[in-house]
Amino acid sequence: MTKPPSELIPASRCTRCGRVVAPPTSYCPDHPVAMEPLSIEGYGEVVSFTTLHSPPEGFSSPLHLALVGLDGGARLFCHGAETKGLRVGSRVAVEEVDQVYYFSHLGVMDRARLFWRRAGDLEETVTAIVKSAVKRVWRRGGGEKV
Ligand SMILES: [Zn+2]
Repeated sequence: MTKPPSELIPASRCTRCGRVVAPPTSYCPDHPVAMEPLSIEGYGEVVSFTTLHSPPEGFSSPLHLALVGLDGGARLFCHGAETKGLRVGSRVAVEEVDQVYYFSHLGVMDRARLFWRRAGDLEETVTAIVKSAVKRVWRRGGGEKV
């Protein structure tokens, strides 16, 4: 079975208040406590987004940016291919490439895939249910022919 590509984002968590920050930092922004490294899944919700038509030097125009609140707790500014159809609260996947974060809008199929991936152990059960349903249909079809 092929595993879906991992979209883990390096982050850090405060051992005292539990705050999660990405990219990882040595100390908690709230108080001088050393943070422990952690990887969080690159999925979250759009908190805010904007399109810059006069972006800073070195960026192509228009520049689509979104502030994404990851499920793991951290908030990141991400670049995206477009903000069309994006809303506050939209589910997005986040990837890190060369220390730049990119978001992509999750469609219905992606969300379903993510759901099944999260379900983990359920996957085998579901496969078994589907197989038995297919068998039932196949047998019924065979029965009609006889
Ligand atoms: Zn803290």
